[in-house]
Amino acid sequence: MFDKVLIANRGEIAVRILRACREMGIRTVAVHSTADADAMHVRLADESICIGPPPARESYLNKIAILSAATISGADAIHPGYGFLAENADFAAMTEEHGFTFIGPAPEHIRLMGDKIAAKRAARSIGLPVVPGTEGAVGGEAEALRAADDIGYPVLVKAVAGGGGRGMKPARDRSELPAALKLARAEAEAAFGSAEVYLEKYLRRPRHIEVQILADLHGNVVHLGERDCSLQRRHQKLIEEALAPGLNADQRQAIGASSAAALRALGYRSVGTVEYLYEDGKFYFIEMNTRLQVEHPVTEMVCGLDLVREMVRAAAGRPLGFTQDEIRFSGHAIECRINAENPDTLVPSPGRVADYHAPGGLGVRVDSALYSGYTVPPYYDSMIAKLIVHGANRNECLMRMRRALEEYVIDGLETTIPLHRRVIADSAFVDGEYDIRWLEDFAARPR
Ligand code: ADP
Repeated sequence: MFDKVLIANRGEIAVRILRACREMGIRTVAVHSTADADAMHVRLADESICIGPPPARESYLNKIAILSAATISGADAIHPGYGFLAENADFAAMTEEHGFTFIGPAPEHIRLMGDKIAAKRAARSIGLPVVPGTEGAVGGEAEALRAADDIGYPVLVKAVAGGGGRGMKPARDRSELPAALKLARAEAEAAFGSAEVYLEKYLRRPRHIEVQILADLHGNVVHLGERDCSLQRRHQKLIEEALAPGLNADQRQAIGASSAAALRALGYRSVGTVEYLYEDGKFYFIEMNTRLQVEHPVTEMVCGLDLVREMVRAAAGRPLGFTQDEIRFSGHAIECRINAENPDTLVPSPGRVADYHAPGGLGVRVDSALYSGYTVPPYYDSMIAKLIVHGANRNECLMRMRRALEEYVIDGLETTIPLHRRVIADSAFVDGEYDIRWLEDFAARPR
């Protein structure tokens, strides 16, 4: 096992990872920008090293500075968390070239899944159901029109280099396609420096359902059930639950087993998430994330596993300590992402936390790096906490979440807590009747 792990991240996920390491008796090294000298992850780590000024590209995205910090501190391994360098194949490769273990998937799998068209092609070839669409990028307008006729309207124009929902435009019929192409290309060019786009069948009201995978270095691959992450705004997830309310045990077993088999065929290692859209009883692969996800705690709560510990163990070469048959799901879990932003306009609201009180009690978990007097810096992601509840069933979770949201005090900032309180009380959400468009409609509804 490792003696010392460097955590190449900040905020709640850095705290989450160092907690798992401490329980395993592994020493931790925090890295931080000058804006984060007083951050919780720096205070809790055994050692800390400043790696640069506030902008992420000069600190948390600075590969050389992070590898230098690993060398100076004598770390054995690096955990990238999520975001920043977590899905940067070059960083994963450099980490290993410098003699450190990368606690995550192999660089070639990160690279493969980072290219949306290559990922879809790979998914198709290993037997996963994918959204109908073009095999590769489309050339001119005439080619796109022909392809769209084959796929059938409505279609969605998507950027090859896409991410964060940018460069995506739907077309309801033939007359709308030229404008959608032009808009998507312009947005993709501006955001990613590449105007390449492809076409997909546009699903009207699907759910977003994703399967959690865990794999060791010895060819053992299991799935840990699925999560429903349909509650999104601007393609950002806001509430997640495990297991998915709309699936039965047979569907769960089928999609879980085929996702695990596909990744076994790839020779995949560590954790990963296979993302699908689900409509009318059918799954359609959209992409795979080769990292720990923000929403991993809901899976931990229903499986009784520590996913970070499992990642560290697997990276150290330990075989999985259980088989697929030994994985049991217990109860239900829901996570609310608390962002420092205006819940209506989504404008970020960084600043000083005047008073902080986190909820507690049976079945309540708070993953956060906040404390009273902490100043949320304006440079990074606005997510400041995750409130997770676990209960015997979905109903108990809803009661518990309502109560926990009432207890939560974060004074001095605007947060998404008021929006969560409204969603949790809404009858459609309570009934589990929602899809990926639901939250946008809900947030726009007059009050
Ligand atoms: P990104 O990498 O930009 O996040 P994804 O392919 O993961 O792009 O899609 C993000 C979100 O966009 C999905 O969760 C879903 O809400 C929506 N979406 C993507 N593809 C389709 C599609 N074919 N039909 C309808 N909605 C889609």
